[in-house]
Amino acid sequence: MRVAVISDIHGNIDAFKAVVEAAKDVEEWWCLGDVVGYGAAPNECMALLLSLPHVAIPGNHDWAAIGKLSAEDFNPEALSCVRWTGEVLQPEYVAYLSELPVTRVCHEFTLVHGSPRAPLEEYLLRAAEAEANIAFFTTPICLVGHTHRAALFTRDGMESHPTVYALPKGDSVKGMKALCNPGAVGQPRDGDPRAAYLMWDSETGKLTWHRVEYDVERAATRIIAAGLPTIEAVRLQLGS
Ligand code: ZN
Repeated sequence: MRVAVISDIHGNIDAFKAVVEAAKDVEEWWCLGDVVGYGAAPNECMALLLSLPHVAIPGNHDWAAIGKLSAEDFNPEALSCVRWTGEVLQPEYVAYLSELPVTRVCHEFTLVHGSPRAPLEEYLLRAAEAEANIAFFTTPICLVGHTHRAALFTRDGMESHPTVYALPKGDSVKGMKALCNPGAVGQPRDGDPRAAYLMWDSETGKLTWHRVEYDVERAATRIIAAGLPTIEAVRLQLGS
């Protein structure tokens, strides 16, 4: 089976559509949260996600937007985006997001937004932080989002710009522990504005990181037109 792993769509329908187009013919979509917040098309992104065969967990912006998580530590721009999102988000999507479990297990993978020990809060940016989380999941791989940076953390150090990672075959996979971040669909922060996603092929055991061009200008224009902070449009163009 082929699975596309996505995270941090952040209301960016232009980026999300480009990823769906690029990863077509996958059997399942695993979404690691933050479908909404920052971007100007939260309802469109929710509708597209729900039209796909998918499993999902919530991100901190999803739950802040629906009032299920405090936004007091958000910066002023993120806060105004999340408030706007809460006002425009359709009731059925509010209900859907509020019911999601913060952690899920699918095949050999644990799915969380931030980290296994603090699913909605912790950012895994460095190998030491990833290492400290190894004891908090029991599957071979933990899939995380939240940092908006593609990453692979293994026990023997960190590879910050992964492209492909082959899981061991058979029983040896059970002894392994690694954490993988697909990067962000809708707001990359690694200097590359292209949308990011991860593919898992259960036949080959390979995880592959992908980037896709999309109409960044269009997504930026939507943010300005919605009256959201200009900085959120600018950062899409910079990938920061
Ligand atoms: Zn996010």
